[in-house]
Amino acid sequence: MTTTDASAAAASTGAAQAVDTAVRAAAASGLERTSRAERAGWLRAIADALEAHRDELVALAHDETHLSEARLTGEVTRTATQLRFFAGVIEEGSYLEAALDSPDASLVPPRPDLRRMLRPIGVVAVFAASNFPFAFSVLGNDTASALAAGDPVVVKAHPGHPELSRRVAAIAREALAAAGGPVDALVLVGSEGGASGMETGVELVRHPLVRAVGFTGSTRGGRALFDLAVSRPDPIPFYGELGSINPVVVTPAAAAEDATGLAEGLAGSFTRDGGQYCTKPGLVFVPAGTGFEAALVAAAGEAPAQRLLTAGMTAAFAAGVGELGARDDVEVLVAGTTDAPGDSASTVVATSAAAFLAAPEAFQTEHFGPLTLVVRYDDAAPGGDLDRALAVLEGSLTGTVRHAAADGAALADDAELVERATAALSRVAGRVLYNGWPTGVAIAWAQHHGGSWPASTASVHTSVGATAIRRFLAPVAYQDAPQQVLPAELRDGNPAGVPRRVDGVLQA
Ligand code: NAP
Repeated sequence: MTTTDASAAAASTGAAQAVDTAVRAAAASGLERTSRAERAGWLRAIADALEAHRDELVALAHDETHLSEARLTGEVTRTATQLRFFAGVIEEGSYLEAALDSPDASLVPPRPDLRRMLRPIGVVAVFAASNFPFAFSVLGNDTASALAAGDPVVVKAHPGHPELSRRVAAIAREALAAAGGPVDALVLVGSEGGASGMETGVELVRHPLVRAVGFTGSTRGGRALFDLAVSRPDPIPFYGELGSINPVVVTPAAAAEDATGLAEGLAGSFTRDGGQYCTKPGLVFVPAGTGFEAALVAAAGEAPAQRLLTAGMTAAFAAGVGELGARDDVEVLVAGTTDAPGDSASTVVATSAAAFLAAPEAFQTEHFGPLTLVVRYDDAAPGGDLDRALAVLEGSLTGTVRHAAADGAALADDAELVERATAALSRVAGRVLYNGWPTGVAIAWAQHHGGSWPASTASVHTSVGATAIRRFLAPVAYQDAPQQVLPAELRDGNPAGVPRRVDGVLQA
């Protein structure tokens, strides 16, 4: 063995040991045996602590991510809101899907006493995102929904904000301790024992006590870890929220009515915070020959260049812009410039629907940063080039239809096209929205933040909204069980007071 081999082996062992210590501590925290009321109280205590440290944390996040303090201040509020939201979700109790069937020997086959509900699954590994250092990071949606479910969490810190991750984890653990909660319900790992972050992440996904993984990041990294999770001797679910281009369809009537308003709205959305949103509108179908493009050139040309999260992302963005711009079938409409080295400028490129149809994969690669691709279509009639282009769309988190002017006035001319676009977009996107921009993701019971591959590795689940908790729960049906072994939520008389379906009838 060479010296290099020996130090790599030692680092790998270091990562394995550190991850093992973290996962075993989390597994021993006993969170799954706590009550919904206790966990709701702890989630609120963590939210309060996060907000109490807002100024300190925003300054730290600003240094590490270059995101503006205004944006980060709002993100702290969002993160605290998410934690409190999941406290409310578990108090309400319908997430348990409690169902009871009484025994009936006259049925064929006979029915025993059956009582089913969702239960915590064990330790959840969470890979924090780079682009939301609070809301999709150490205390983000994955962590909040897993803790609410009763699952302890081991977070793999994102290397783009390591100090912030350490501080947020410490504040959360202090808050848990002060509120009498199990401190090890939340444990952080980073680059452990001299190993790389990647080695630490691999050890985490492989650990036998880890029962599920939540991930937000690149398609490549997510795919590698997904493959690892499902090729374990005991495969575990991997919930990856990956790349998304978020197609937008601008109808002819909408472009004719208010091309300038639409273009300004689009420019604001795709350049917001450096275009570093999983919901950035990166592909826009626009009728050819309208004033929309000129208005977009004017609006996007005014957007300031911005520093992206990491040097790696800056380089990847520049490479992607270069590759697109070099294509014969692409016209560069806005090639923003910047005097500040390291900043990335707003970029708009355009192609035709025919070119898009000839190379749909090349035009659906996510470019993480301030870039959008306009696809000009000629024929919005059924079976025209717009329909054909929409038919080859890949999975996305969102799909948008702009069928009315910015003032929201209804445009009846496009009603039939709106129905066709809805059908095409709802085939591939988890959220279809009308006359808005997709970048904001509300925290709500009806929210869905997911979609088909490559937007997500699990198209039936969401990482935002109340049902995000469903990822970290597994059903158990108890048959003819004695009362004392049943969870309170399934006992006679409903002592826990949760909504239940009894003999097929929903009881609030
Ligand atoms: P990333 O490279 O996928 O990394 C995310 C996390 O996964 C990091 O903790 C990383 O660890 C870990 N990881 C990645 N590949 C791994 C592997 N093969 N084995 C073990 N661990 C692995 O994502 P990123 O750093 O946030 O950004 C890179 C690109 O992802 C961006 O340029 C963008 O295209 C995309 N992205 C998309 C979204 C979205 O919401 N759609 C969000 C963020 C990023 P280490 O870095 O420590 O090795």
